[in-house]
Amino acid sequence: MTPAAMAQAPENKPYVILLSLDGFRWNFPMLYTTPHLDVMAAEGVKAASLVPCFPSKTFPNHYSIITGLYPDHHGIVANRFADPVSGKTFALATAEKLNPGYYGGTPFWVVAEKQGIRTASYNWPGSEVKIKGIQPSIWKPYSETIPLAQRIDTIVHWLRLPPGERPHFISVYFEQPDKVLHAHGPGSDEARSIVAFTDSLVGILRTRLRELPFADSINLLVVSDHGMSATSPEQTITLSHYIPSGWLQYPATGSPVIFLKAAEGYYDSIAIRLRQIPHVKAYASGKIPRKLHFGKNNRALDFTVVADNGWTIVTHSGQKLELGNHGYDNALPDMHGIFYAIGPAFRKNYKAGSLRNIDIYELLGRLYNIAVPDNDGKRKKTKPILRK
Ligand code: AMP
Ligand code: ZN
Ligand code: ZN
Repeated sequence: MTPAAMAQAPENKPYVILLSLDGFRWNFPMLYTTPHLDVMAAEGVKAASLVPCFPSKTFPNHYSIITGLYPDHHGIVANRFADPVSGKTFALATAEKLNPGYYGGTPFWVVAEKQGIRTASYNWPGSEVKIKGIQPSIWKPYSETIPLAQRIDTIVHWLRLPPGERPHFISVYFEQPDKVLHAHGPGSDEARSIVAFTDSLVGILRTRLRELPFADSINLLVVSDHGMSATSPEQTITLSHYIPSGWLQYPATGSPVIFLKAAEGYYDSIAIRLRQIPHVKAYASGKIPRKLHFGKNNRALDFTVVADNGWTIVTHSGQKLELGNHGYDNALPDMHGIFYAIGPAFRKNYKAGSLRNIDIYELLGRLYNIAVPDNDGKRKKTKPILRK
């Protein structure tokens, strides 16, 4: 075989592990103790922050990272949304999550599998679904009951499979620190502990990877889907005080971002009432400021309502409140996440400016030297972080 052909053979392709720590805000390493991420920064690349897409929620952003598309373009516009075509509601806790019809774009694992690169996913949003007819070769049904450290054992086990079965691209989702941050707030003692804990998992993963015979050919990316703002019960807006549920075609869902569809005859009444709600920005979905890259998708319904930073919208009074949340305007620094990368492809001790999460898709394509389908990202944006 010629050297060029050997480099193209699937077993000689690089290894890439993409790990997401849900809700890990860009400045936690400055506020809390994160020795393992700090070492990654010294030995590899650290971006000032990773800018999420709007709405800065979990499913839209993980799916943007893996498709290079804005939520408006891939269709997973929220963790929960009504689809005006089918009349059904996509939600993480229902079987609708498993309906491929919701998922637009081409996840990177689909691109890779088509090129003969085996992929695995541990709970990355979308990995439980055959999208474009393809799923990662190895995947797991979503579960939060398996301890995070045990999931690392599984990932390392995958990397110890015989060459023909071993995945070369592994995407991994950890639901922390987000869960603790919602419950206790990003400035709490619990936040300090969970940030240190998730950082320690990065250390464990790196130690385990170093033990592999092909450790030198592994590129590890540690990212997050968004940051976190402190919220408080005093900063709550109750939607039903302004808009009776009978005016809406679908029940509204609370959070910092809601989509509303007017029941017949109520569009104008809703538009008037939305202007009276303090501490929110309400837009006709087709007329959202361009910088948000949102609202053309019909799943954004008639109106998109976004609370100001730190505010919460509940649908009815008496709903349980959290001390941390996200979903707000993605330009807010509180919504920015992290990006670290280390491995043979990346520069050492290199500090990059803020990167956009939609540019990771093209970066993945470049790491494998393969083309990816058209998307909203740009290959040149991540060029400076690569070794020459
Ligand atoms: P949020 O912080 O509201 O954007 O959503 C994060 C939550 O989504 C996590 O705490 C999990 O409970 C949930 N979640 C994340 N991934 C999945 C998944 N693949 N299936 C079901 N629920 C998920
Ligand atoms: Zn999240
Ligand atoms: Zn969250």
